[in-house]
Amino acid sequence: MSAPRPVALTLEGSDLVIAWNDGHRKRYAPQRLRGLCPCAGCNEARRHADPPLPLDATLPDIPQTIAYRSVSPVGNYAYKIGFSDGHDTGIFTLENLYRWGDDA
Ligand SMILES: [Zn+2]
Repeated sequence: MSAPRPVALTLEGSDLVIAWNDGHRKRYAPQRLRGLCPCAGCNEARRHADPPLPLDATLPDIPQTIAYRSVSPVGNYAYKIGFSDGHDTGIFTLENLYRWGDDA
């Protein structure tokens, strides 16, 4: 069984909302996705936290005021998401996005 595919991306207020081809609509607050950023630098920060955090843990201390700056497709498997703190190295796979969204 293949993973669901996004059919539409919209911004609702500060949140990203993705409509998926299985009929689900999921909402993503920028603070949440910034905290879940899976890039190498964020994984280093998790490893060096005291105590170390698992690699899928949410990073602490992400400001509530953080916002999206850019969302661009990477091939047909992910989106690269840029944030207002200048951080734009996170590649968010469709699989992770589907899993991490709250039903909207
Ligand atoms: Zn990152």
